[in-house]
Amino acid sequence: MTDSPVPRIQLNDGHSIPQLGFGVFKVDPGETERIVLDALEVGYRHLDTARIYGNEEGVGRAIAASGIPREELFITTKLWNDDQGTASVPAAFERSLDRLGLEYLDLYLIHWPTPARDRYVETWRAFEHLREGGRVRSIGVSNFLAHHLERLVDETDVVPAIDQIELHPYHQQPDTTAFAEEHGIVVEAWGPLGQGKYPLFELPEVVAAAEAHGKTPAQVVIRWHLQRGHVLFPKSNRRERMAENFDVFDFTLDDAEVEAITALEREGRVSAHPDEFN
Ligand code: NDP
Repeated sequence: MTDSPVPRIQLNDGHSIPQLGFGVFKVDPGETERIVLDALEVGYRHLDTARIYGNEEGVGRAIAASGIPREELFITTKLWNDDQGTASVPAAFERSLDRLGLEYLDLYLIHWPTPARDRYVETWRAFEHLREGGRVRSIGVSNFLAHHLERLVDETDVVPAIDQIELHPYHQQPDTTAFAEEHGIVVEAWGPLGQGKYPLFELPEVVAAAEAHGKTPAQVVIRWHLQRGHVLFPKSNRRERMAENFDVFDFTLDDAEVEAITALEREGRVSAHPDEFN
């Protein structure tokens, strides 16, 4: 396997995941192939998409065009809410694989719990069957709070490998991350830069660390995630930012810098509440 500067994190199912990847939420389907090819050229080997993003085909075309051996890539997609339920999951999974042009997936996630449907437990059992079938290596969930995870732990046989949740300095979800850690579930941080909706890059704690290390504020926020143990996949349409966000393995924040950024928490959610989004 080609050398990569990106560390891998061990999952509870024996597989491992590159800690830094590239996400494609809101990447225009018509531009996805070019943007993902740029990301692969920059060095990213972990890609995060979803059926609802409408760009799985573009991700698949970029993978094919890149010529990178499949085993060097880690590809995630997600089951959308209206495909939840025992009967729908296998076909939805096959359609995503077809659009991606892949023989297998590294990680498949339930995108939201959508508790009003009350189908995430049966959907999770269908995910267990998919994994037994061998065409997906790891299974997990997204936007699950501690009490949603608890139902899966109590009522099913497989503990999710991953919970992908909104997580950035203004919204760190300590209850969910504590439950995940206790049960061996790796946390992925979506919206790791706050989706540009907060002035994270102007905060004195972030700017001071950037100046101290000769790096940019975005690199400091990414480094904070890495040192907190999160998996993350910041998105950018711009190649120079893709490179900036990947160039984070030549410095280390000290404990005081990490703690100062952790102290910025203020429950600043950018998305819907997982108990209310259906
Ligand atoms: P991010 O926190 O990654 O922020 C992306 C924004 O930050 C874009 O506007 C981008 O602009 C800008 N940006 C990126 N790099 C820099 C930089 N170095 N300096 C300044 N600005 C920068 O938000 P995302 O929502 O995209 O989250 C990342 C990924 O998480 C998604 O792409 C997706 O894969 C996943 N996700 C999952 C969700 C879920 O429900 N499971 C929900 C949302 C996201 P520009 O493109 O112009 O550079």
